[in-house]
Parts: sequence; structure tokens; C-alpha cells
Amino acid sequence: MSAVLAIDLPRATVWQLMTRAVRLRCPHCGGQKIFASFFQLKTNCPTCGLRLERGESDYFVGAYLFNLIAVELILFFCVCAFVIFTWPNPPWDLITYVTGALMLAGCLLCYPFAKTTWLAVDLAIRPLSREELEWHHAGGDMGDRELPHL
Ligand SMILES: [Zn+2]
Repeated sequence: MSAVLAIDLPRATVWQLMTRAVRLRCPHCGGQKIFASFFQLKTNCPTCGLRLERGESDYFVGAYLFNLIAVELILFFCVCAFVIFTWPNPPWDLITYVTGALMLAGCLLCYPFAKTTWLAVDLAIRPLSREELEWHHAGGDMGDRELPHL
């Protein structure tokens, strides 16, 4: 039964999932206005009804990890380029203070992107089935029904 249900739901490509995510849209359907505030996703996508944290209480950990890795990598390459550009006398004190400030600002500014990107990666790894989407429409964890893992 579940194999038939898993097949009949249209599936976005990884490219579609990621481009929707970096535009801060629902990776599943491309719907807009999925954020209640800058840091807070709405519970459900207003367009398709997907629970944007897939009904898991610790879902933010993946977004947090994504955010940390992305900001660290971006800063690493920026600092390396700046050091090479200013060699042989890079301003180490300036680099230290500016990098610290950019790390804090980057973590805050990239967090919404990390949330949608993490959801896109999760949807690529664990594609949404019709059964799970129905579970999301039914309110997810509000009843005694568990998240269907296929
Ligand atoms: Zn959606």
C-alpha cells in the first residue's frame, strides 16, 4: 500500500528543491510566505500544507548545523582571499575582529536560508509521500497518529 502512495505524489528534482530553498520558498511546492518572522517558520506551508519542520521537535538541529557549516566555509574562503590579497603584511588584528563580527552577523543572516535548505536536503533524502502529506494536513502531532516513516 505505501509503495503505491509514495509513487503517485509529484516529486521535485534536487535542483528545484534547492533553488526554491535559497529563495526562501517551500522546497516542496515553491509556495511563498512560509516564515512567520525572520527566524521562525510557519507550522505549515500556506500553499501545500507541508509541516515545515516535518513534525519533528528537534528539526532545528539540522538547520543549525547547516548554518554553522555554511558560515564557517564562507568566512574561511573570504579570510584566505583577504590574507592572500594583503600579503606580506595582512592586518591580523583587523582580520580577527572583523571575522568575529562577520561570524555573528552571518549566523543570524543565514539562518532562514539554512532552515529552508535543510528542509530541501531532507526532502531530497526522505521524499514526501502522499501518506505523510495527509498526516501533515491532519495536523501532524496533534493527534495520536505518529509520523509515517516509509
Ligand atoms: Zn509548500
